[in-house]
Amino acid sequence: MTERSPRLAAGLPDAGQGRRSLVITIDGPAGSGKSTTAQEVARRLGLLHLDSGALYRGITLALLRAFDGDLPVDRVDAARIGTLELEVAWDSEGPVIRLAGARVPDEDLRSDAVTAHVSAVAAVPAVRGWLLGAQRAGPRFPGLVADGRDMGTVVFPDADVKVFLEADTDVRALRRLRQRGVADPSPGEVRTEARKLEARDATDAGRELSPLRVPAGALVIDTSDLGFEEQITRILERVEAAG
Ligand code: C5P
Repeated sequence: MTERSPRLAAGLPDAGQGRRSLVITIDGPAGSGKSTTAQEVARRLGLLHLDSGALYRGITLALLRAFDGDLPVDRVDAARIGTLELEVAWDSEGPVIRLAGARVPDEDLRSDAVTAHVSAVAAVPAVRGWLLGAQRAGPRFPGLVADGRDMGTVVFPDADVKVFLEADTDVRALRRLRQRGVADPSPGEVRTEARKLEARDATDAGRELSPLRVPAGALVIDTSDLGFEEQITRILERVEAAG
């Protein structure tokens, strides 16, 4: 792992002494920059990073393969999940998803097919139940930065610092396209991507179980016009203040 901020490292509770480790949650809608932000905060503070969206993507990929691409979510239950040969292991930086013993590459987790199905899969109670266990069972020392939709509300309700990131839909769409290597997207491409993000947000915010919500007491940051460094600074200031 990368170097840790000496000040925070000194203040971090040691699990071996029976004290709690720092937990920071970062929630927000699709494309709000949660994962990149969480990864950078974790790197600066020398903490583990839990990208919970990757776990939902892993289970979606496993189900797509099990059902040969045609995924009837109403047939997904705990028994079916048990047959998937899906494993969440942890290395020194965060969770590693294995399917039938092989590490799942990031590009498979982020494929169009997985992205198109993941929100429907994430609304299935058996899926959320299985992943709730996997997320809470992971290591917490020296501390954890967890990003997703329900990190501060459901998975880690006692987190030390809660953050909620938001941004205009067009800004999020543009960032997503650039991430995928489209350097200069046309207005039509931005609109199409924005519609996909809105559809995913609507499913994530509208579901019965663990809907996307701003956690009580969260630091809400609108990143539409904010530089990445400024965003990181605001979060680190909140962490310092909480310490
Ligand atoms: O963060 P990412 O876009 O990779 O998440 C993919 C999907 O996984 C989300 O659209 C959402 O449906 C689901 N998810 C969730 N709860 C989380 C993280 C992700 O329902 N904590």
